[in-house]
Amino acid sequence: MLKKNDIITLDITSATSEGSGVGRTPDGTAVFVPMTAIGDTARVKILKVKKTYAFARLEELVTPSPARIEPDCPQYQKCGGCVWRHITYAAECAVKEQKVRDAVQRIGGISTSFMPVIPSQRTCRYRNKAQLPFGKSPDGGVTMGFYAFHSHRVTDCTDCALQPTVFKTVMDVTREFIRLTGVEIYDEQTGRGRLRHLYIRYGEITDELMVCYVVNGNGLKHEDMLIQMLRRELPNLKTVVFNSNREKTNVILGSKNRVAYGSGFITDELCGLRFKISPFSFWQVNRAQAERLYAKAREYACLGGSEVLLDLYCGTGTIGLTMAKDCKQLIGVEIIEDAVRDAEHNAAVNSICNARFMCADAPQAAQRLKEEGVRPDVVILDPPRKGCSPGLIQTIAQMAPKRVVYVSCDPATLARDLKDFAAMGYQTQEVTPVDMFPRTAHVESVALLTRT
Ligand code: SAH
Repeated sequence: MLKKNDIITLDITSATSEGSGVGRTPDGTAVFVPMTAIGDTARVKILKVKKTYAFARLEELVTPSPARIEPDCPQYQKCGGCVWRHITYAAECAVKEQKVRDAVQRIGGISTSFMPVIPSQRTCRYRNKAQLPFGKSPDGGVTMGFYAFHSHRVTDCTDCALQPTVFKTVMDVTREFIRLTGVEIYDEQTGRGRLRHLYIRYGEITDELMVCYVVNGNGLKHEDMLIQMLRRELPNLKTVVFNSNREKTNVILGSKNRVAYGSGFITDELCGLRFKISPFSFWQVNRAQAERLYAKAREYACLGGSEVLLDLYCGTGTIGLTMAKDCKQLIGVEIIEDAVRDAEHNAAVNSICNARFMCADAPQAAQRLKEEGVRPDVVILDPPRKGCSPGLIQTIAQMAPKRVVYVSCDPATLARDLKDFAAMGYQTQEVTPVDMFPRTAHVESVALLTRT
């Protein structure tokens, strides 16, 4: 029997999707050890013992796995962002592929064909968005960066390897502004102080930059000076926005934006189309990889020109608009008003005339469309992590599309929903994992379902 503080030698034979290596003791107890890799033999110290599993800490590598590499970030394991910087990208892709397969087979009970994961060409500096909290170090200094694992302590980060280098310049200018003006950092405990988050977005193709400060109030003292400082260092600065969030909440953005400089939005390109992106609108964080995800979705949608296409959870309209020329009619549904306005604008600037967008809750909109007699041939679903409701799946099944293309950022809810679809007569034909988020625990998937 394992006991706390035991030191044992363990072969690491699998990995959790959150980044822990897992080994088994001779009696079958699973031992979870962060910072280990499949193929390691390690001496580990037991920290906590449960009935069928235990947690341990790596003490010493006896034989390192061939998949190991030297982590290339000084913040690694201090910040809660990356979990796979200590193994090769190929090994990371294998873990992600397995995560999707396990979820679909075990949670969904679905037997289907799995394609290999589509790897990201860039594993560094691929993100076009950052939301960085401000905090205070124990000595009273200002920190800016990421929350540590399972905590709200802000780990200071001067340059994140997942972000474009221009974000570092924005952070540097902001630090200098804080130093010069002494603006107070928001304190989550007391609800006092001003600066809460720095939110940055970058259009990779257009080279347009949006900087947004989330403040507990309406704005900042010496705002003009801040804008001048940003403009001096960042010739590609397109807009500066102040977002007002006075609530005691860990939701980052408040409901009100004020444009302090420029247009209030940026634009970028995806699959040859141009898109307007407002601060509240969703936009894929790994642009180049989103094109590969959409190409797979497009292949699954298999449009011939005569179809009605329903794009649920459409954001700024991206997936549907990139397929609009291949169908008769596109209907997009999205709950965020600004995103719907962006989607309508995006259809117009790309000369797409067969699209309409509804600002509504997806299940309610689907119900309404069904009652109006709309019968889409293909439905695209791209919900947030929590997935779809059984009600929405039922409504879609009643509309009887030939195909459903399900894009998901959470394999567990995807698996649950594929099971519900199966019960409604939709069989999963194929699942393709797509790595949108190298070095982190997240993996995207796209699944094709057909009516049986
Ligand atoms: N397909 C888009 C956006 C996907 S993200 C793209 O690839 O860019 C999921 C989107 O669902 C977000 O834009 C979010 O605002 C929207 N959303 C969240 N809950 C919703 C709901 N209940 N009804 C409709 N849209 C919702």
